[in-house]
Amino acid sequence: MSYLKLTGITKKFGGTLVLNQVDLTASKGEMITLLGPSGCGKSTLLRCISGLTDLEAGSIALDERELTSLAPREREVGMVFQSYALFPNLNVMDNIGYGLKMKGIKKEVIRGRVDELLKLVDLTDKSHAYPHELSGGQQQRVALARSLAVQPKLMLLDEPLSALDAKIRKNLRMEIRQLQQKMGMTMIFVTHDQEEALMISDRICVMNQGRIVQEGSPEQIYTAPRSEFVARFIGNYN
Ligand code: ADP
Ligand code: MG
Repeated sequence: MSYLKLTGITKKFGGTLVLNQVDLTASKGEMITLLGPSGCGKSTLLRCISGLTDLEAGSIALDERELTSLAPREREVGMVFQSYALFPNLNVMDNIGYGLKMKGIKKEVIRGRVDELLKLVDLTDKSHAYPHELSGGQQQRVALARSLAVQPKLMLLDEPLSALDAKIRKNLRMEIRQLQQKMGMTMIFVTHDQEEALMISDRICVMNQGRIVQEGSPEQIYTAPRSEFVARFIGNYN
């Protein structure tokens, strides 16, 4: 049985169908990329999973629990966005520990977990810095650590690198991949950048107009695109 199983996810805005019967599964520890052009429904799909948007139809099962009727905070799903959305008045440690504090976890326990996460994202020397004192890449590493702190079952990353410079983007994508593998974290990573998708995924789901039009390993998608759309999008088309 799949760790994550989306069935028939359907979403409309006004009269417009934005997600059209999307099915998607993920195994535990899998890194899945949703790849598709702007407006195809990637963010909306993540928002449905995290509970920020409700569905017209469909079901979302995570670790054998149906999520659709649960509030976002009950879903054990973490999310990282393109904009870092850190708390500007809290330093790095307090940003990372925020979710644990809200859960009423003891200070010493929080301290220990925050220290571990600081090491994981290589920011131990910045633990007392404030967000405005950090680079974009460092801020995004804090955002990642902050999401990981509450030990979600699933992490959703919505174009987390797209506000960063090309070089930092490449480094950080490998860091995210390494972190994901090390922790065995199940992740859905949204991007419109085909190179990014090819580099970090176990499996790529190509989306167009509210549907998943092809899914497969990076190699399968690259070498055997099933339609002209996929071929063009993945850049393997002359
Ligand atoms: P992507 O993340 O792939 O760029 P989105 O999921 O943001 O795409 O958007 C999919 C479609 O849904 C777009 O046509 C967008 O304009 C529309 N949409 C997204 N959010 C809303 C909203 N809150 N109200 C109305 N339309 C929306
Ligand atoms: Mg989006």
